[in-house]
Amino acid sequence: MPSVAEILIPLALDSAYSYAVPAGLTLAVGDVVQIPLGPRETVGVVWGVRESPAGSNLRPVTGRLDVPPLSGPLRELVDWLARYTLAPKGSALAMALRLPDEAAQGETVRIGVRASGKPPARPTPARMKVLAVAADGAMRGKSALAKEAGVSLSVVDGLIDDGALEATALTPEPVALPPDPDHARVPLSVAQADAVRDLIAMMNPAPPQTDRLEAFLLEDAGQGDVSATAAPATSLPEPEAAPFRAPTILLEGVTGSGKTEVYFEAVADCVRRGRQALILMPEIALTAQFLDRFAERFGVRPATWHSGIGGKRRERIRAGVAAGEVAVVVGARSALFLPFAKLGIVVVDEEHEAAYKQEDGVHYHARDMAVVRGRIENCPVVLASATPSIETRVNATRGRYRHIVLPERFGGRRLPDITALDMRSDKPERGSFIAPALIAAVRETVAAGDQALLFLNRRGYAPLTLCRACGHRYQCRNCSTWLVEHRFRKALVCHQCGYAERRPESCSECGTFDNLTPCGPGVERIAEEVTALFPDKRVIVLSSDFPGGAERLRAELQTVAEGGCDIVIGTQLVAKGHNFPHLTLVGVLDADIGLTSGDPRAAERTFQLLQQVTGRAGRGEKPGRALVQTFQPEHPVIAALLSGDAARFYEEEIAAREAAGLPPFGRLAALIVSAGDRAVAEAHGQALARASEPPDGVMVLGPAEAPLALVRGRYRFRLLVKTERSVDLQSYLRDWIARGPKVRGNVKVAIDVDPQSFL
Ligand code: ADP
Ligand code: ZN
Repeated sequence: MPSVAEILIPLALDSAYSYAVPAGLTLAVGDVVQIPLGPRETVGVVWGVRESPAGSNLRPVTGRLDVPPLSGPLRELVDWLARYTLAPKGSALAMALRLPDEAAQGETVRIGVRASGKPPARPTPARMKVLAVAADGAMRGKSALAKEAGVSLSVVDGLIDDGALEATALTPEPVALPPDPDHARVPLSVAQADAVRDLIAMMNPAPPQTDRLEAFLLEDAGQGDVSATAAPATSLPEPEAAPFRAPTILLEGVTGSGKTEVYFEAVADCVRRGRQALILMPEIALTAQFLDRFAERFGVRPATWHSGIGGKRRERIRAGVAAGEVAVVVGARSALFLPFAKLGIVVVDEEHEAAYKQEDGVHYHARDMAVVRGRIENCPVVLASATPSIETRVNATRGRYRHIVLPERFGGRRLPDITALDMRSDKPERGSFIAPALIAAVRETVAAGDQALLFLNRRGYAPLTLCRACGHRYQCRNCSTWLVEHRFRKALVCHQCGYAERRPESCSECGTFDNLTPCGPGVERIAEEVTALFPDKRVIVLSSDFPGGAERLRAELQTVAEGGCDIVIGTQLVAKGHNFPHLTLVGVLDADIGLTSGDPRAAERTFQLLQQVTGRAGRGEKPGRALVQTFQPEHPVIAALLSGDAARFYEEEIAAREAAGLPPFGRLAALIVSAGDRAVAEAHGQALARASEPPDGVMVLGPAEAPLALVRGRYRFRLLVKTERSVDLQSYLRDWIARGPKVRGNVKVAIDVDPQSFL
């Protein structure tokens, strides 16, 4: 009987397509093949092979590509991802199957040259210059030699043709040198040493006696949130005599407690065992400080993986990871789909970060997918945070995850004292945004030679511009957002779609000249105020949208860390993870931003952010303090921050979530319907709602106009599905979409399981 191959194509298609396997070709699951698709040829992956009489009527596979097959664990991850997020399976495949692009094809061989000792046939002055440089007999790259001699490359080429220089292919530098797990072990504090011992014990199979108990406990607790709903049909068979199931471990420790050193030891242990480690970070482009720290501990920098890593280097890292040669990768969420040959640990640093959720294409949460990958590979996953997400915290208290706590700062350093500045009584002067008490604290701090950080989570100069004459407010023409003034760029900018226009001199509505007024502050406006207050101090403004990009940010963060500035003004970019040893004062300019949003995680998010940013203070020798400007010091979030009673805050927040049936006690999914025409989007949303037929335990809310009602010219309506925890949300959604209205015209329906954004 003819063989039929089911081929999954990395396009937005939900199922695999059947192709005939031509005689003489043997295909295995995972093979990457070329196939005809309509009038063209494309690439796909063999997802299944069977014998079927239908084979003779199908188009044949063109051939197998000479690339490594997609491994079993990665195929399982793709299946899992598609099933959980309801993304087309082909889209999920596209994340794991990055075919070498044309530009990255064929490593250009670097040629090294040195003098052969043979005189040149034509000794021109340019040629003699080259030979003078090469006279030392050393091997140099061709262009390096040309540059050193101050001649063009063609002169060097001429000398090679002539035989006066001899050329050899240089072996390419490895993408990452092997880290040495014993390069520079730091002496750990007692708390750290305990944590490391526990961590390493948890990560590795326990001695026989406790083995069974361990497996029993894990079994009993059920699996983590992510695996409970959509248990993969293809999940690995439970090996009978191997009860060890690698755990997910929450490593919780206050800011500055030394979590990094602790998980470095776990990574070192993993490297010593010859396995690979993946460390996920939320802001990978800005982690120079982290990479240096890694290099101090392990002797070399790790391989890094993020969207800024281009072409050939990308391919070489992939190949190195697949061959098991690259031992440690530090990466953004997409690193989860790298073809690790022998993954031994995944660390998710700052696991609570919302940046781990991908909000377009395949809507997935990298932290949760890391847990899934860990289960598939049976490798431990360490979730590190000073402010764990409620989801992770609940999983830890219920025993689904293990829990290790570092309760105190490293080296006996104290957490900063936090004081509220009630903006109703401690009012800033007219036209100012900084309360007198905070100005005085900054003055004191810089006078003592220390650093102060003023934190405002708002980019630009002013979040709203209006005309004083007619009241016209400047709004984006594609989105329902106010345009944010950016004074450095002299522009009004939409933070949603990037639309920008020159800030007009006269009102575009009423024509009144020079009467536009900025409302409210962004970091640029604070910078203006601070520079006026402290003209002789060195001020650095850090915001992700400044010219110079990641390079410049890296350099400025370095400057701050080295104490090369007095006052830092920044957005959330500076709030997280950085180690600024000279920083002793943090001023939060508006602690209330975010508290009023309709997001069920608003309180949690604000608490996390405020704790992170105040936690930047006092990480060095001197103790730190924080002043927090707020209009509602009695708000539970602010009160918890001031009292330092995080445990109580979380307890209350968890109780509130449980009472409301919100995650992780219930499940949520959002359907976002959008169209170029408002009525069309709304009608489609209503038709969807009519088809929802929610069973017991399921509630469908909406359609409601989205808070961001217009984005990039598309009108948006949202439906929210809320279910009890026991409901199979994915099956319900799949059935609903199938019986719902056909998507017509330019209507789009995006499905967001476990939404993190409610805009
Ligand atoms: P966290 O990630 O928990 O906020 P870090 O790992 O960044 O904390 O550690 C905080 C500070 O303490 C850093 O400056 C770090 O270098 C220092 N530190 C932590 N552990 C040690 C150690 N064992 N020896 C020396 N310094 C340490
Ligand atoms: Zn816009």
